[in-house]
Amino acid sequence: MQKQIPRATLPILALALGWALAACSSPDNGNGNEQSSFSATNAWAHLERIVAFGPRPSGSPANAALRDYISTELQTLGLTVTREPFTDTTPVGDIQFENLFVDLAPNALGADPDGLSMIIGTHFDTKIIEADEGGPFVGANDGGSGTAILLELARVLTRDNFQRTVPVRLLFIDGEEAVNFQWEGKDNTYGSRYHANNLAKTKQAARVGAVVILDMLGDKNLTIFHDTYSRRELMELFEVAAAAKGLGNHMAPRRSLPIKDDHLSFQVVGIPAVDLIDFEYGPQNQHWHKTSDTLENCSALSLGRAGRIFLAGMPSLERWILKQ
Ligand SMILES: [Zn+2]
Repeated sequence: MQKQIPRATLPILALALGWALAACSSPDNGNGNEQSSFSATNAWAHLERIVAFGPRPSGSPANAALRDYISTELQTLGLTVTREPFTDTTPVGDIQFENLFVDLAPNALGADPDGLSMIIGTHFDTKIIEADEGGPFVGANDGGSGTAILLELARVLTRDNFQRTVPVRLLFIDGEEAVNFQWEGKDNTYGSRYHANNLAKTKQAARVGAVVILDMLGDKNLTIFHDTYSRRELMELFEVAAAAKGLGNHMAPRRSLPIKDDHLSFQVVGIPAVDLIDFEYGPQNQHWHKTSDTLENCSALSLGRAGRIFLAGMPSLERWILKQ
C-alpha cells in the first residue's frame, strides 16, 4: 500500500499518524516508566549546564570548562576518566584538543571482560560561528544534546541493576566541527580520527565490535534519519528496537541520506559504526549551524526519547557484537 502513495504525501501522512498515535496514547514525559530508565529531566539539566558555558569550540577556555564538568559528573558516578589530549594542525594553526572517556567492564553473569566492546560516542565541541555569520553559537543541539544524553546514559548504565554483557566505552569527542565554515578535507572529526587511529595503532581496533555516535538529538520534532554511511545492520537494529518500544515514529527508515560524522573515522579503521542523528533541525534544517541552535529549539522530550531509543537497541547491539 505505502509504495503506491506518492512520496510527497508520505511526510503528511506520517505527521497525521504521529498526531493520531499521540492523541490515543498516554502522555509521554520522555522519562519512560521504570525507575531505572533514562531520565529526560536529568538530560535536560545537563543540557542547560552545557549551554551555559557559551560557545565551546576546540581549544577555547569554555571547551576546557565543559571537559571539567563532564569529568566531574562522571567521577561523581564513581568512574575513572581518561583524558586523551593531542595537538593537531588546523586551517588556523595548531589547536590543543582533548577527548575524554570512561570504560565500563561488563557485569552480567558469565560476560567476558576481554570480549569485543562497544563505544558510545558524541562530540562536545561547538562550531565557530563568527559574529558576522550570526554568532555567537551555543550549539544546544549540535554538540550539546549528544553530550547531555551520554552523561545521563552514564548514570543509567552504571546502576547496580543494569546488566552489561559487553565492555562499554563512553567517549566524549572533541573537534568534530570544521574550523573553517565548510567541512572539507581533514578539517573536521579531529577527535574521532585521533581516537580511532590510536585504537588501530595499539592493535585495539579489532577489539571494538561497534561504535554508536549520538549527534543532534535535541530537536523538538525528533526524527532520526537512516544514514547510509552507517553499517546497515546496526542502523536497522535501532529502527526495529525503537518500533518495538513504541518509538518508531521518531526514526525514519525511509529518509535515507549519507551523513558525514564521527562514525566515519571508526569505519576507516575497520570498526562497524552507526550514526544516530536527526539531520533536520527545525523545518528545512533551519537551525543547523545557526545562532538559533538554542535551548528554545530543543526539548527534554526528545532527549528522553533518544536516550530510550539507544537503550531499546542496546540488547540487540550487544547480541550483534557477541556474534562477531
Ligand atoms: Zn555541527
